[in-house]
Amino acid sequence: MQTLTERFAAANDQVQFAAQKFGRAPNSVKMLAVSKTKPVSEIEQVAALGQLDFGENYSQEAIEKAQRLSHLELNWHFIGPIQSNKTKGLAEHMAWVHTISRDKIAQRLNDQRPSSLPALNICIQVNVSQEDQKAGVSIEQLPQLVSQIETLPNLSLRGLMAIVENTNDTQRLTEQFATMRSLFNALKAEHPSVDTLSMGMSQDLELAIQHGSTMVRIGTAIFGQRQPKKES
Ligand SMILES: *Cc1c(COP(=O)(O)O)cnc(C)c1O
Repeated sequence: MQTLTERFAAANDQVQFAAQKFGRAPNSVKMLAVSKTKPVSEIEQVAALGQLDFGENYSQEAIEKAQRLSHLELNWHFIGPIQSNKTKGLAEHMAWVHTISRDKIAQRLNDQRPSSLPALNICIQVNVSQEDQKAGVSIEQLPQLVSQIETLPNLSLRGLMAIVENTNDTQRLTEQFATMRSLFNALKAEHPSVDTLSMGMSQDLELAIQHGSTMVRIGTAIFGQRQPKKES
């Protein structure tokens, strides 16, 4: 059985190998360690290996972990669904939020971001697979949300995020990743702050990197399987 240290090293290698394979610059793809449901002790272990960016997708858990580990000065990324009664804690404790798809949530995060902190880094989630049950803006709604975020001084628009369809159909995945890449390139051309395309998880990181991902969100490959958990 592999240790956490070994899995972390292997995931890192996989990301760097894929970047090289597809002619991407070294370090042009960042690995976000998705630690949801995993104990603080495991985050400490991975942080000690030099990983600074961690992702969580249950708001209460994200806020608690960020508070308990504040001495480590990690960058906390929120990648889960956002309820409006949780925006204050997220605005106070996260460095990034990847899952913005509503103007109301963007406005609240802006208003609740403490003035002592730098602007909150924002990715807009795009429902690129157009699945009814999936969060994210449609491609048609995207420009309007971009314009709104641009007016909010305590938010910094960094890019786009997608959770592609859960399928093994490489053709469909390729189409979705490629659509995200073209949306990202168009956005970047107009907005100098945009530099992040958050897509790819343990199962599809190589395909995501092939299609221009700059941040892959890796949970299982680093931390092992999760027990199912519900938002409290
Ligand atoms: C859990 C999660 C991940 C990580 O998924 P793995 O398959 O474990 O790598 C990535 N992105 C989001 C939004 C998640 O909720």
